[in-house]
Amino acid sequence: MARFIFITGGVVSSLGKGLMAASLAALLQARGYKVRIRKFDPYLNVDPGTMSPYQHGEVYVTDDGAETDLDLGHYERFTGVSARQSDNVTSGRIYQGIIAKERRGDYLGATVQVIPHVTDAIKEFAKAHTEDLDFVLCEIGGTVGDIESLPFIEAIRQLRNELGRDQTVFVHVTLVPFIAAAGELKTKPTQHSVKELTALGVQPDVLVCRCEHHLPEGERAKIAAFCNVRKEAVIPALDAKSIYEVPLQYHGEGLDFEVLRAFGITPGLAPDLRRWHDIADRLHNPEGEVTIGVVGKYVGLQDAYKSLNEALVHGGMANRVKVNIQWIDAEIFERGDAEIAALLEPMHGILVPGGFGERGTEGKIASVRFARERKVPFFGICLGMQMACIEGARNTAGIDEASSTEFGATGEPVVGIITEWMSAEGLQKRAAGGDLGGTMRLGAYDAKLAGNSHVATIYGTTAISERHRHRYEVNGAYREALEKGGLAFSGMSPDGLLPEIVERPDHPWFIGVQFHPELKSKPFDPHPLFAGFIAAALQQARLV
Ligand code: GLN
Repeated sequence: MARFIFITGGVVSSLGKGLMAASLAALLQARGYKVRIRKFDPYLNVDPGTMSPYQHGEVYVTDDGAETDLDLGHYERFTGVSARQSDNVTSGRIYQGIIAKERRGDYLGATVQVIPHVTDAIKEFAKAHTEDLDFVLCEIGGTVGDIESLPFIEAIRQLRNELGRDQTVFVHVTLVPFIAAAGELKTKPTQHSVKELTALGVQPDVLVCRCEHHLPEGERAKIAAFCNVRKEAVIPALDAKSIYEVPLQYHGEGLDFEVLRAFGITPGLAPDLRRWHDIADRLHNPEGEVTIGVVGKYVGLQDAYKSLNEALVHGGMANRVKVNIQWIDAEIFERGDAEIAALLEPMHGILVPGGFGERGTEGKIASVRFARERKVPFFGICLGMQMACIEGARNTAGIDEASSTEFGATGEPVVGIITEWMSAEGLQKRAAGGDLGGTMRLGAYDAKLAGNSHVATIYGTTAISERHRHRYEVNGAYREALEKGGLAFSGMSPDGLLPEIVERPDHPWFIGVQFHPELKSKPFDPHPLFAGFIAAALQQARLV
């Protein structure tokens, strides 16, 4: 039976609990264990799909079409284990299930309550489909002390009681702040956080202490004594230069060793960390650098493009170069044409990422045009591909009014809403005015690539599967006109109906994809499109 590692956070948010979970899982994996990571989100949205990227960062989409928390992206990037719908649950989803059951009369007249009904549902979620695993890591979102997370803490308390000490371990991530005026690290917030947690019946076995400065032995001993944790199990966690060094750093501080020990397992041989050493080597010893301009809407908040940012870094690792990302607000282009050249000329590659809504789209279209005319490597993702088609329609096919129905009624719907498509479950249908949550074309879909295309060379195959999240699609009725304008439709859905990839054969590197390749890129397995794009940018850097 799988063992459970429950991860809570204290003092403040943004302590890197997700990265800690991902790193611990990677370390256990490096010791030969089979792992899976899950995330419990205490908010009431059923999933983050309808939340603004400004509020919640990127929505991470899984193969099975779930719209999940961005931490699942870290989990996948660090472990290579494909996340699933069943790896992310919110309070909203739990309550939705319980209320539906109550309306059906499934509770047979009982009063439906947080304990036991909500806590039972949380426990079921934690334990579902874990038969073939060694460790299940469950990260609880939020901070201990939040009203919203109480049912989750109660559920893990019950699980410890039911499964026993040798099946469950509690890891608590806290902050040990440095007070500059006193020149000291302060352990009191950690003590209070652990006190709060123990009042809820959860005594942590391992404490991960985020700190900006080296944690002296004296402070470590103090935390151990006040928090009732062995001194060796108080793990200092200083900021790392790169997130990909975090597993090595945690290993150095004994995290995986202490977690195994807490289970009563005697750690065997040292973990095989060659993969992580190779990644660190590529990061620290680049043989060149490129600058990529990302022309997007949510550039103020990097979490909004988390996977994209990482995939570009992976593309750099594949080529042993440093990638500088220049986040460019698409709206500034709408102020005047002159700025475009000045801003984009220093870029070795231009990327227009996914997005929703009309704001900033004219700026994105202008950047596509710049990349096409100046022969700068161009990569369009999802909305970015749609922009590449609208740009092509307007400027190479003479369709001046080309637009997307996403931006309002148009006489030239080069991009239009998709109302029908084939999925593994059969024909999917959507109404134009339907629900927004969970109704896009979501998750993994196959695509067929033209044998002689640039993308087939890049992928090294003509059959691919990639993850999608979109409601609109390039309109096949315009294919001929766009192809005459030089845009080749080099990837299509297997039934030949939905355009998946466009490219310009007369351009060194111009590719637009309807899917999100960034979601599948890993540091130890960079996505071929990102590796190819950075290689092309490197070529460009040598030219200018
Ligand atoms: N807004 C576009 C659509 O729904 C693109 C979506 C995206 O970029 N993820 O099709």
